[in-house]
Amino acid sequence: MGMSRAASLSADEFDYEFVPETDQSFENALANARDGRRLSVADGVELITTGTDTPGIDPERKELVLEAADRRRAEVVGEEVTFVANVNNNVTTACNTGCLFCNFKDTAHQFETEHDADHAGFTKTLEESREIVADAVERGVYEVTSVSGLHPGLALNEEHHELLDPENPELNYKPPGVYDTPPATYEEYIRGMAETGAHVHSMTPEEVEHAQRGADWDYEHVYRELHDAGLDTVPGTAAEILVDEVRDVICPGKIDTGEWVESMEAAASVGLPMTATIMYGHVENAMHRVKHLQVVRDLQDRTGNITEFVPLSFVHQNTPLHEHGVVETGASREEDELMIAVSRLFLDNVEHVQSSWVKYGDEHGMKLLNCGADDFMGTILSEEITKRAGGEYGEFRSFDDYVEMIEAIGRVPVERSTDYTERRRVTGDGPHGPTLGPEADGTPLL
Ligand code: SF4
Repeated sequence: MGMSRAASLSADEFDYEFVPETDQSFENALANARDGRRLSVADGVELITTGTDTPGIDPERKELVLEAADRRRAEVVGEEVTFVANVNNNVTTACNTGCLFCNFKDTAHQFETEHDADHAGFTKTLEESREIVADAVERGVYEVTSVSGLHPGLALNEEHHELLDPENPELNYKPPGVYDTPPATYEEYIRGMAETGAHVHSMTPEEVEHAQRGADWDYEHVYRELHDAGLDTVPGTAAEILVDEVRDVICPGKIDTGEWVESMEAAASVGLPMTATIMYGHVENAMHRVKHLQVVRDLQDRTGNITEFVPLSFVHQNTPLHEHGVVETGASREEDELMIAVSRLFLDNVEHVQSSWVKYGDEHGMKLLNCGADDFMGTILSEEITKRAGGEYGEFRSFDDYVEMIEAIGRVPVERSTDYTERRRVTGDGPHGPTLGPEADGTPLL
């Protein structure tokens, strides 16, 4: 079957090995999905393109895919829609990795004391980082999510600092003292956040790679040390698209697919629950999206530690990919719906699929809860990453907002812990606030 126009996205100019062509039919793929059979990559591609035999997205076929996914969602998790009371606490924006989809980083040399020019980035001291989290916990927050730039002055601990040679450019290392605000170590930041009583969701596979550069340690050693320091769960971000020919275009400085998987397996082997993500809507095609889902499903078959899958629609504004004219726009709403739906159908071993209101906005985010998603992210008291990449949406969702939005679509609002082991239905007239956090007493967050 031919390659559909929608499926080719804006990636026509890349000479990819993997293209969205299959010998499956849309009808057979849909039947497999409806009957609950494990989907092949060809099935996934047929569903996510609404058939490679026709160009563009067919609206009637799309509705059939969304319906199948919504029904599957109801069978797997019922009518509850979950959310978590959380705070974002990214400790630094300094980064030299230069991913082309990112506007979070500021080239790290600007942070050095000798550099005079102004920049919009920041590094938090250990004390500042801890206080932000302590304040949020006092308000009732349960979780801190912390994902940072790969600051050259960041190391796992003091032992790591001693191993790192500032003269070796391959290590991307400088002693903390050369920076206006010297960063603490990864272990210190994690311990500081954990001491507040918050559940610490941090250390992506990319950060763990940075935390072992130049040392003779494996990922497992690093995750074990971090777990001992208070790390509770791991965000499976830095995944982008887990197909190397796409990574070579958008993030050549990052770890490859094999290393990402190895790192996640290491996290699982020390007992850490984790999430998995996909960032789509840039230079990848439909085959890449589905191959990514297969990498995640295989990883979950081996580990069982993935609590939820989080599709992230690429926010193109203010990113190098957009500024260089490589990507004109992000995914369409129809593509978002199909991404969520096929994630639900393809990942038969992952219980929860998230609709991210930060990426999609409220209205579209609510629609996606009817396309297979059942988790609606978190309150997020601050969210530098999306703001700096030009995301247009507000930065905070109160419990009352959540209750109103979720009840408006006839579902049941449920406050959850990060790993879903604790859940509480939020019912009755407001005002509502969190109750699961160590200091939470049902008072609204703000
Ligand atoms: S995505 Fe992460 S690693 Fe890449 S440039 Fe941005 S902050 Fe650095």
